[in-house]
Amino acid sequence: MNIHEYQGKEILRKYGVTTPKGVPCFSVDEAVKAAETLGGKVWVVKAQIHAGGRGKGGGVKVAKSLDEVRKYADDILGMTLVTHQTGPEGRLVKRLLIEEGADIKKELYVGMVVDRGSQRVALMASSEGGMDIEHVAEHTPEKIHTVFIDPTKGLLDSEADDIARKIGVPEGSIGQARAFMQGLYKAFDESDASLAEINPLIVTGDDRIVALDAKFNFDSNALYRHPEIQEMRDLDEEDAAEIEASKFDLTYISLDGNIGCLVNGAGLAMATMDVIKLYGGEPANFLDVGGGATTEKVTEAFKIMLKNPDIKAILVNIFGGIMRCDVIANGVIAAAKQVDLKVPLVVRMAGTNEELGKKILAESGLPIITANNMAEAAEKVVNAAQGK
Ligand code: GDP
Ligand code: MN
Repeated sequence: MNIHEYQGKEILRKYGVTTPKGVPCFSVDEAVKAAETLGGKVWVVKAQIHAGGRGKGGGVKVAKSLDEVRKYADDILGMTLVTHQTGPEGRLVKRLLIEEGADIKKELYVGMVVDRGSQRVALMASSEGGMDIEHVAEHTPEKIHTVFIDPTKGLLDSEADDIARKIGVPEGSIGQARAFMQGLYKAFDESDASLAEINPLIVTGDDRIVALDAKFNFDSNALYRHPEIQEMRDLDEEDAAEIEASKFDLTYISLDGNIGCLVNGAGLAMATMDVIKLYGGEPANFLDVGGGATTEKVTEAFKIMLKNPDIKAILVNIFGGIMRCDVIANGVIAAAKQVDLKVPLVVRMAGTNEELGKKILAESGLPIITANNMAEAAEKVVNAAQGK
């Protein structure tokens, strides 16, 4: 689960990390009032969406008067912000963060992720803050420094100091950088985060270390023990189809293609997408209906897939193990009737009660295209999607 920058900064403050003072706002008037309350002469108006690259996309503006705060808030609220992380359709801005302006001397990068290889939290830091870390990793990988944190010891003073020096923190601010990194690690660890990224972490004109941006991802499987983080969830920022699917305990991920996939089992669903691509098609979604899918669940799955206007054909690929093929066949037929299916439907099923399932489909009177194996199914669905 993702949260907004202002929420990430609220978490950081609890762990003693210095951030600029700021106020989240939902209207232009609120934004101007927030700037007045914050005081000072310079403010930053920041779009709050769950995507990075806002600065380049015009979603972060420095205002030098209250009139400018009003103007920028008005520009940014309600804009469709396009960044390299939103995709070309962009994201509608519904929230702002108004912050006191910062005096930036240096922009640094500090991030943490769960590293599967070492089974530890990896702290990554770079002198190249404010830019895309992917770009730095590709072109100047030597500028990224990594520490794998021992969970029994936490981030040691010596490790923090060493990495702070490597990224160019001034000698007089090393202690602050250490406190920052240890605070970030504690926040990360205690909140079951899977990713935290402070880009940029800045050194101010008077050598203070301040987190100017904050991005957090949390492990969804651990959210049950963090009600305060669950409350930060913003459904406006999440894919509507994925939210709908989660209500029915379906694992659904929206993708860019035009072939809907309904599969049981995550591994088979991945393999199905691979085979579709092998035959030159593009999956519209990943969908795992799970081992115990009922007719109702299959119907909901169809409804969710068909809400996608790009869908040109659907492939149902079922291995009947726990799930019986006749149950799926009945589910598919009931769903196809209920949703008034207008796109070609290819079904491949194998396993328990396979023959019965195929018979049910054949006798349904619906124009279902059957396939005997995955390759045949993929070829047929790709052709169907192309109108062949
Ligand atoms: P992102 O583009 O979505 O990652 O948004 P950031 O919060 O990182 O802001 C982008 C850039 O805006 C930063 O790298 C800074 O250069 C600039 N910026 C953000 N806050 C301030 C500020 O208080 N003062 C100034 N001068 N620049 C800022
Ligand atoms: Mn940033």
